[in-house]
Amino acid sequence: MAAPPDNFGPPGAAFSPCCPPSIQSAVAAVSLRPSIQPAAAAVSLRPSIQPAAAAVSLRPSIQPAAASLCPSIQPAAASLCPSIQPAAVPCPPSMQCWPVAVPAPLCPQPGVSGPVTSNRVTVDLNEEGPLTPDQQAALCAMVKRQMVDKALYVKTGGKPLHFVQVPVSQKKSSEAAPSTLQKRAQRVSDFREKISGGSGEEQMAAELKRLSRDRLLQVLQEGGFAQIRIPDGHLLGAKSGLNLNWGQCRSLRRWMREYGVVVESEQTSRRIAADLLSATTVVAENLPFTTKDDDGTKRVEPRPCAFLSSLVAAVHDFLERSKKAGKLTWHRGGIPEIEIWLKIGGDHGGTTFKMAFQPLNIKHPNSKANTSVFCLFESKDSRENITTALARYKGDLKKLEEEMWKSEDGETYQVKILMTGDYAYMSTIYGISGAAGTYPCLWCKITKAGIDDPDNRTLRTSSRDLDNMGRRFSRDFIQRGQGRLRRAQDFRNIIAAPLFDIPLEQAIVPGLHISLGIFLRLYQEFEAAVQDLDLKVQAYLRMLVLSEPNNREEIMADQELGPFQRYVDAIDGAQKYRLEADELDQTIEEQEDQLAFLAYQMQVDDEMAEVVFAEAASMVSDLVRKRDSLRKKEEEILSKASVKPGKGPLASKLEPVMKTFKVRREMYHSRTFVGNHVNRMLHDKPIEDLTSSVVNTMVDLSHDIKEFMSHYRRDSKSVSIKMHLLEDHVVPCIRHWGFGLGFLAEQGIEEVHAQFNHISQSTRSIADPVARLKATLKAHLLKVSPDHTGKIPEPVKRKRTL
Ligand SMILES: [Zn+2]
Repeated sequence: MAAPPDNFGPPGAAFSPCCPPSIQSAVAAVSLRPSIQPAAAAVSLRPSIQPAAAAVSLRPSIQPAAASLCPSIQPAAASLCPSIQPAAVPCPPSMQCWPVAVPAPLCPQPGVSGPVTSNRVTVDLNEEGPLTPDQQAALCAMVKRQMVDKALYVKTGGKPLHFVQVPVSQKKSSEAAPSTLQKRAQRVSDFREKISGGSGEEQMAAELKRLSRDRLLQVLQEGGFAQIRIPDGHLLGAKSGLNLNWGQCRSLRRWMREYGVVVESEQTSRRIAADLLSATTVVAENLPFTTKDDDGTKRVEPRPCAFLSSLVAAVHDFLERSKKAGKLTWHRGGIPEIEIWLKIGGDHGGTTFKMAFQPLNIKHPNSKANTSVFCLFESKDSRENITTALARYKGDLKKLEEEMWKSEDGETYQVKILMTGDYAYMSTIYGISGAAGTYPCLWCKITKAGIDDPDNRTLRTSSRDLDNMGRRFSRDFIQRGQGRLRRAQDFRNIIAAPLFDIPLEQAIVPGLHISLGIFLRLYQEFEAAVQDLDLKVQAYLRMLVLSEPNNREEIMADQELGPFQRYVDAIDGAQKYRLEADELDQTIEEQEDQLAFLAYQMQVDDEMAEVVFAEAASMVSDLVRKRDSLRKKEEEILSKASVKPGKGPLASKLEPVMKTFKVRREMYHSRTFVGNHVNRMLHDKPIEDLTSSVVNTMVDLSHDIKEFMSHYRRDSKSVSIKMHLLEDHVVPCIRHWGFGLGFLAEQGIEEVHAQFNHISQSTRSIADPVARLKATLKAHLLKVSPDHTGKIPEPVKRKRTL
């Protein structure tokens, strides 16, 4: 059974030409004894070939060929017996193969049993054509004897032949039962181990690569292998980060499941959310807020307000969670190690007023993620409304400062509160009338006149004092002044009791609003000066061109004056009309002389003279009309080409400079600047560019505040409260705390408005305004909870040129 090639094909099949000719010509002389019976259990060989023993020995000339038999003959083995089919290795397409028709199984032959006699099974190695039934029976018996573990090894002298048993499938795998599939998989796996020489997994990887990518993904998904399990709490993080409502979250969960992504259930999300907000209760109710109609009439009406029942609990919980997450820092000793600094600030933005806290013991204290709003109401930030909503926290703030915070690891800290907000808000909570009052400063008792004119000041301006302010309010303003706002100046503009007991040293100078306000003011003054300069240059040019036309070329060659070209051209156009008008002036003068002469003549009563006079008079008035129209044309041309406010060659250079630094003025709020833009413009380069864009240099901001103020006073009439704060309170404030105003002041809370706008998108479907505001506040608190997981990563910022 050494695979005689010429006898392995199905009956009548053409022999594959890809086999070497040596095999075809070599006639294997395996002669079996004629006495061998079909279906013999034992095949005895003729004595002449017995030296070959059990293995049929082939002539040496065909042995190498046998090792490299054409693969196409392997399927033919299927015709032998279903139990000994070799592994079906497909033929290379270049080879010509015989049809793979599987004939009826030939062994065991029914009715044939017992030994096959040698004289019946004689195999002449020169024999051709299919095996006789007896030969087949003998082959089957030999194969069965030689098989070990459903495989048949046949020695050839060279590489052995290796046949593997492949069962005939009754059903396609796509229709077979799972258990059958498993059995088949096991067989394939065994075969893979053999054919790969023991590297079954690498082999399987190579097989998987034969599938298209899409098909492979499909297979993995169908098999449940592509499943991703997202840890609990992370869907809540995505919900919070993307401002989704619960309905959208459900849709997202279903959608992800389609792709094998499994996430927490809604129940789990809600449980985690409740845990994150467990420290304090979020309350919402209608409160009596004061609103103003368009005509200015005040009206009290119920408006929703959402707030935390306990600020102390909320702050302590935030600190505890931050500490556990390792997020607390003392800024390398900037904050004393036993202190926690807590910024409390309020601001109105969008449709709501927000009161928030920001621990400063965090790496980026002004970030949105570190701004926790604890009170939110839908009304204006008037004194009445702020008092209505915030008076409840007076006790909380006192308690926060007076009671130490004890963290769970046993450390104790003193909480120090810093009050921040814009100047109007600060004035409101400390009870003074504000920037417009006679005593406009929150920190000192300076008067408005004293701010404008430093020479007119008292030698020492004393500071305000919180206790004093409370007393002044109750004793002076209420009792003596009978609470009349008109008399506020008599009581240093103290018109209300301070809302909280936080000393004025802990009230931070509003750095952001100072820079915004001062920058806007300087820019406006600068812009006005540049516009003025445009008009002056224009007038001067006109004079120059008209008086000495020879200068024109020279003027136009001047690069700085180039932008005025349009205007100089217009002077030419207008000149034509001016000259015509000037000529007419002469004619008119002559005609008027004649008219006077006519009038003189008319003393002689002459009807004829009267007609002539009337004609002459009408001619003169025609000339006058014509001259006036020429003059008008000249004016039109000049004014058309003349500079418009802010559009002159110099003034129009300002906006492009701002644009190169990506600074844009808001089109509302009297074209004010937004905070970031101001900060960007306050770098040296923008200032240099801005000021060098025109010949005139206004002020050099790199000088210190004092020098700036003395410059400013020289050129401007009035000094605003913000400039006073800059002049007298910014430096002491920074010295006192050891940090800059960017760290201490109010910008953090300004950023929270945008976040609330986004959150309100997810809560707007809630019909009840009170419930809606409550859900909004809760969504915000989840967002900023220090240890909530699965937050949406921040976008990678592109590098700015500045
Ligand atoms: Zn002051």
